[in-house]
Amino acid sequence: MFETTLMTALLVGLGFGILAIGALLALVAWLRRHHRAVPDAPALWRGRDYACPGCGAPMAPGWVMLGKGAIFSARSRGRPGLFAHIGTALPNTISMHVPPAANMAWHCAACRLLLLDHGKLVRD
Ligand SMILES: [Zn+2]
Repeated sequence: MFETTLMTALLVGLGFGILAIGALLALVAWLRRHHRAVPDAPALWRGRDYACPGCGAPMAPGWVMLGKGAIFSARSRGRPGLFAHIGTALPNTISMHVPPAANMAWHCAACRLLLLDHGKLVRD
């Protein structure tokens, strides 16, 4: 009796473990399909000089690493809520690479404005 219960518990635990690993692999596959990364190249920056929309000064080009992705919500829809998740992240804002890929970005330190290109991720 005890051995049967133990065996059942082990099989249920193993089943949940396999399901969890399967769900994780499916999530990684989905993220790879929705977030592409390209190698870094000087051509990526050509013609990409932006003026700050706040003060008009040239914005500093650089990188932003977002962690779990950028979740944007239009003002008319309200702020992202408690249930916002990586599945709602903007395309190309979650890196599955080691070292992580990053988004090209332009920053104005004076105005604290950030312009982000999420057309692609860029990796080494
Ligand atoms: Zn500015």
